[in-house]
Amino acid sequence: MTISSKEAIELEKKYGANNYAPLPVVLERGEGVFVWDVEGNKYYDFLSAYSAVNQGHVHPRILDVMIKQASKLTLTSRAFYSDQLGLAEKMLCETFGFERAILMNTGAEGNETAIKLARKWGYEKKGIPANEAVIIGVEKNFHGRTTTIISASTDPVATTNFGPFMPGFEIVPYNDLSALEEALKNPNVAGLWLEPIQGEAGVYVPQDGYLKAAQELCTKHNVLFMVDEVQTGVGRTGKLLASDYDEIKPDMVILGKAISGGFYPVSCVLTSSEVMDVFNPGEHGSTYGGNPLGCAVMMEALTVLKEEKMTENAFRLGEVFRARMEELSAKTDLLLGVRGKGLLNALLVNDSEDSKTATNICYKLMDKGLLAKPTHGNIIRFAPPLVITEEQLEDCITIITDVVMNFEK
Ligand SMILES: *Cc1c(COP(=O)(O)O)cnc(C)c1O
Repeated sequence: MTISSKEAIELEKKYGANNYAPLPVVLERGEGVFVWDVEGNKYYDFLSAYSAVNQGHVHPRILDVMIKQASKLTLTSRAFYSDQLGLAEKMLCETFGFERAILMNTGAEGNETAIKLARKWGYEKKGIPANEAVIIGVEKNFHGRTTTIISASTDPVATTNFGPFMPGFEIVPYNDLSALEEALKNPNVAGLWLEPIQGEAGVYVPQDGYLKAAQELCTKHNVLFMVDEVQTGVGRTGKLLASDYDEIKPDMVILGKAISGGFYPVSCVLTSSEVMDVFNPGEHGSTYGGNPLGCAVMMEALTVLKEEKMTENAFRLGEVFRARMEELSAKTDLLLGVRGKGLLNALLVNDSEDSKTATNICYKLMDKGLLAKPTHGNIIRFAPPLVITEEQLEDCITIITDVVMNFEK
């Protein structure tokens, strides 16, 4: 059955939940960097499902593996072994340089798992008194939507009327080493938990050296350094992990989104044997976590990322994109500049936080065939699939330039 954009939107309004504010475009097909709406209009996807489809929409090799695995075995639960899970764990460990991996489904679950690991490690290895463990988070963090995770959020939209909140979090300003040092004086701190670039907050890149110094402080205080790379990982920022820019080696990395190329929810926590071994049978799990279908999809998604050099492409085209957006910003009062790494970038719109200017620019971009969304404040996040070619990127820069230079408030 095919329906019109108008009908699809009305159905969601009538039967769904109002928990997102989508652009009024109804998509039905995707291929590489492109998506098509139900009326057949073609768009460049400059959001990539919040960086879940780094490998491009419906990558043919991932599709093939998904179909093959889905026709063989999809779910065993962890009550039995599968032929895929061990291989997937091995690939994750070898690809990202860790000893152990635990697979979950969503990014939020990956973060929940990391919190549980850090707490249990804190009690059993560090000797923190029972129920006293603290995890330090940072302002403007985004780690997902569970009641525990939002207990560490500083965004009133994410927290208002969702209390009571989970204790055991202390929040310090991002990119502030002296505040961190102060907070680390508490001997009950088990972990420091942050994003190497704050994606949802508006692509905030910390100063060079912040992550390395933060890690050193954690080491000094025997605190686990927990890095949420759900959005920044898997090539998005022009390195396999954004952490690689700082040459740091977190105690835990949380991945999600693009590790399965947009086909199937897979997330994971990567860590050392010392940390992972705090989990015993029955203490944590998920029915779908580590299922054979997700494992097979994830392995192929990582393989194509490597073989098609998507990370390198993101690095190179990111430089091109930011240079061109800087040139554009210099030509107009509408923009304040661009920031980001690789193909995770934000264009900064020169208007107040509560104005609709960024949203209105996104509507114009949509009319010209490019889909992007504002994030917190007057910021437009641009994150195309990493398979974008230089020619396609030039085409997109032309669209953005055209919209910006002709935009009237
Ligand atoms: C998207 C995101 C999450 C949450 O992932 P879900 O799959 O939506 O639960 C967590 N952390 C970061 C940094 C993210 O960008």
